[in-house]
Amino acid sequence: MITAVSILEGARFACQGSGACCGGYVYGPIEDAVVRVVRAHRFTENGELLNGPADPFERTEIDGEFVRVLRRVDGRCVFLSRTNKCLIHQEISPEAKPGLCRAYPFNVALAPNGVAYVSLNMECAGFADGSHGTLLEDTLEEDLPVLLAMPTQRVPPRVAWAGGVTLDFESALAVEEAWLADLEAPDRAVAACVRDLCARWAEADLPAPGGGVAREGWLGEGWLGEGGLGEGGLGEGGLGEGWLGEGWLGGARAVAAPLIEAIRIVLGETVAVEQARGNLIDVALNRRGTDAAVAWLEGASPVLGTRAGDAGDALMRLQLRNVVFGKALHRAPTVGAGLGLEVAKLALGAVLAEQLAGGAPVTPHHVNEGLRTLNRCLRLSGLDELGEDAAASAEALACALGG
Ligand code: SF4
Repeated sequence: MITAVSILEGARFACQGSGACCGGYVYGPIEDAVVRVVRAHRFTENGELLNGPADPFERTEIDGEFVRVLRRVDGRCVFLSRTNKCLIHQEISPEAKPGLCRAYPFNVALAPNGVAYVSLNMECAGFADGSHGTLLEDTLEEDLPVLLAMPTQRVPPRVAWAGGVTLDFESALAVEEAWLADLEAPDRAVAACVRDLCARWAEADLPAPGGGVAREGWLGEGWLGEGGLGEGGLGEGGLGEGWLGEGWLGGARAVAAPLIEAIRIVLGETVAVEQARGNLIDVALNRRGTDAAVAWLEGASPVLGTRAGDAGDALMRLQLRNVVFGKALHRAPTVGAGLGLEVAKLALGAVLAEQLAGGAPVTPHHVNEGLRTLNRCLRLSGLDELGEDAAASAEALACALGG
């Protein structure tokens, strides 16, 4: 049962009107009431696809069940106009849209303490547009019933923290509150904040089997022993000179490399798959992500986010606050693995922003676009898709940065 709703303080949202969220996804299940209203309307645009006998809906399999979804043409929703406007919104009403479209771009995580944490879906370019957007706490109230009616992420009472170790939700929440306070310090560069986050993660009081707290030695043999942070992970070049210095991932490059390589391979494969499906939106995004991973593996070391006050600093900080507040890390196989992947995403996002700037000064637009691309290509819950070792690699990275 929801006892309270909590919204990240200071978070803002402004729809960019790009239509980017209306392509590349599967949209469903769609409510019967929406189907009735849409079928009763005669659309003035896209009539050949939307008005009978054409059917703007189709059935597809989701989680083993056939459900009704919005039809897509070249990966775009059939209701998206040539000028990237939603025709249901424009010709009927905003309220006539499917619930999932009305709820976008917000996520709800329902925690064991009964609090529904509302955060922003970071695949949307509008999540980070803090300078133009309106405060969520001022605008979200009227959409809350629709939002809370959507499927929510349920945070379990015990949180998978690292390896086979779990933490009770209240203990995890205490660490997350400290993280949020860290991220609100305005004079720290994001890359430095990241290392603090990893250190707090590694130092959390963890329950020992049979009770008590296994603080001593929990980073030892048990869960990150051989194979986790073995020779290749923390050997020469892993935590060598300068790993605590400036720069994304610093001397932890050797530890990060297997994860970034896995990302490069999977995004490259996704380009081919989406090309075959005709989903040109995801082809472009995954190609960008692949390029960033290749550049990083070849030695790119962005300065973005490594000096407080950089163009990207506020956006990256916001991304991390949103991730932590929204309990997104709880969707990863472990919080540590989610943290490691999030760090890799930020580092690649910084590379991509610099690539998008093409040698000119990096602007918030480049950073926003870089982060959106990486968020769209790499979901925290999708670590498994990166291969069976990816979660361990991501955890090893968080561990290396946390010292
Ligand atoms: S119905 Fe409208 S808002 Fe929903 S995906 Fe299609 S164009 Fe976008």
